[in-house]
Amino acid sequence: MLQPGGTIGILGGGQLGRMLAMAAAQLGYRTQIYTPERDSVAAEVAAEATIAPFTDPLALGRFASACDVLTFEFENIPTGQLAFLADRLAPNLRALETAQDRVKEKRFAESVGGRPAPFAPVESAEELARAVERIGAPGILKTARDGYDGKGQWRIESARDAEAIRLPHTTCVYEGFVQFEAEFSVILVRSLEGEVRFWDSPENRHVDGILAQSLLPAGGAIAGQVEPARALARQIADGLGYVGVLTCEFFATAQGPVFNEMAPRVHNSGHWTIEGAATSQFENHIRAIAGLPLGDTATTASRVQMDNLIGDAALSAQGVLADPAAHLHLYGKQVREGRKMGHVTRVWR
Ligand code: AMP
Repeated sequence: MLQPGGTIGILGGGQLGRMLAMAAAQLGYRTQIYTPERDSVAAEVAAEATIAPFTDPLALGRFASACDVLTFEFENIPTGQLAFLADRLAPNLRALETAQDRVKEKRFAESVGGRPAPFAPVESAEELARAVERIGAPGILKTARDGYDGKGQWRIESARDAEAIRLPHTTCVYEGFVQFEAEFSVILVRSLEGEVRFWDSPENRHVDGILAQSLLPAGGAIAGQVEPARALARQIADGLGYVGVLTCEFFATAQGPVFNEMAPRVHNSGHWTIEGAATSQFENHIRAIAGLPLGDTATTASRVQMDNLIGDAALSAQGVLADPAAHLHLYGKQVREGRKMGHVTRVWR
């Protein structure tokens, strides 16, 4: 068990790291942030920060020696230099490596009984043509690695579209387009001893590939699909020997839940847990990696709505504070189009 005053190192410097650092502070821990970015919004609320590339072994070594436990808030971290800190990293390196590659994560989900959209790895124009022929169109071509918030994705409507596309110089995956009724996520926390707790699953609405809104309770098609989706998420977590918060995203379809992807970390669709659940995803992630007892994940409101503030929507956001149901979170970032700047959670008790 990490004693109060212990230091948690967080790889990645964005808003997830910021909210993790705030939860860690509440439990009496210090945090150090490791990020290549000069203007890290996590570093602003942490005890110390290392600004260096993820590929710098000396900087990583110094950082790791100053921390008792290490975690990450961002999965697109090159893992080549991380082997030396693997025994103190939670979630573990295998979970990170699995989740950062769409082909690996789909295969892993299949290996434990999950059903992703039909997919094929694509390295060349010929492979894309074969994939479109086998799986059909419409579909989505995605880079296997480094994509986020709808970046690195191209919709393909026909075989002709596939011929015209200029493939990026990296492995991709072609996925059949899923006719879903709704999207939802399963967010769980797994302790060092293997105890698993789930938060209620929100319905997630995306605009242009970016999460716009999470809603609870999730009704309609989702309600009956949460149990099988949880069973799969638990298999994934157990199979990886996972410690911390794990998020799995699903499509609710007429044939049951289809696995979309996993994030080996706290997730935007879990931000509502700060005000809407007995223990937030951030606090429970810190509890899990510190070896503390897990907190209650029960929802404490009758209805919750989380809206992301994207781009300049954040500039006028303080107005929502006149609404007694609203809780405003601003991440302190410079406004940029399409950037996640903050979120508002409304809870009705
Ligand atoms: P991703 O980055 O894979 O989570 O994709 C972002 C969003 O794009 C998803 O949340 C869906 O709204 C949409 N999307 C991604 N893949 C598919 C698919 N195979 N079929 C239908 N919609 C998809």
